[in-house]
Amino acid sequence: MKRRSFIRNGLLAGTSISSMSDNLSAAQSAAKPLIVSTWDFGRFANAEGWKVLASNGHALDAIEQAARVTEADESNKTVGYGGYPDRDGCVTLDACIMDEAGNCGSVMAIEHIKHPISVARKIMEKTPHIILVGDGALQFALENGYKKENLLTPDSKKAWEKWLKNSKYEPVINIENQLYKKQDNSFALGGINNHDTIGLLALDASGRLSGGCTTSGMAFKMHGRVGDSPVIGAGLFVDGEVGAATATGVGEEVIRCVGSHSVVEYIRIGFTPGQACKKMVERIAKRDLQKAKSLQIGFLAIDKLGNVGAFAMQKGFNYSLKSSTEEKVIAVESYFD
Ligand code: ASP
Repeated sequence: MKRRSFIRNGLLAGTSISSMSDNLSAAQSAAKPLIVSTWDFGRFANAEGWKVLASNGHALDAIEQAARVTEADESNKTVGYGGYPDRDGCVTLDACIMDEAGNCGSVMAIEHIKHPISVARKIMEKTPHIILVGDGALQFALENGYKKENLLTPDSKKAWEKWLKNSKYEPVINIENQLYKKQDNSFALGGINNHDTIGLLALDASGRLSGGCTTSGMAFKMHGRVGDSPVIGAGLFVDGEVGAATATGVGEEVIRCVGSHSVVEYIRIGFTPGQACKKMVERIAKRDLQKAKSLQIGFLAIDKLGNVGAFAMQKGFNYSLKSSTEEKVIAVESYFD
């Protein structure tokens, strides 16, 4: 089910949607273990990660297992297999992973590999490096037993072919609460969903934090374009002593302010995760208010006690949370209405 129709239809078995006002100073949860991830489709990933957390596993394993669910989901057009290709028709994927001790791995613009999150973890564990890109990343993945696959599904190919008809290079992401003109001149809320990275944060029963982020990036992007998602500090940052944060939205703007790291630094100096995310969005908005009006950016954060919060530039962002007592999708407050 699409994100918007899910929100419209309300509840899905066992999952509730809570109100926007829950997010800032009144922190969500504070139970452990728990897992949170961006967007409502994150609930499927959380369910898999939860299996690891519920059996006292490491948060890092929970993150990897959870992210793989979304990466394998053909119906998700913005992550992994079935993701929209770049403007040349190539599906290029970005992912990163990080644990409580600052160990991290990242893969950028990798093609033909369904599970970039696992490749990122292998880079972290098996090499003295943090980042591998493009062909080198593919070579490393193949050497480590990953299969070369065609990731361009017929649906995504069709969408790309449609885009090619105008092939207007407009690397903008859709904003969930805005009206977009369709080809038949009618209007649709939210337009085509052309972004939506999954960023995941987990706190395990032993109090260890980890995070992951995986995406196919902006639809029909320039070949080789990499957003914030696999950039440690931008799309994801974890400090086991403080907290963790992840981002979704226009990657260029998140990189410019090293978004996730900055959110964690706000937590370090005493802000709740929700307040920290809000401060970051305000900083981006204040730098260029005019530009901010057409941007969607969302931050999601957790502190080391398991308090969770989020904030977005525009309405429409939400996140999924799973703990032993709660399973819900939470609508996030925004800077603009
Ligand atoms: N941050 C991603 C990118 O810029 C897209 C998104 O999460 O919306 O590639």
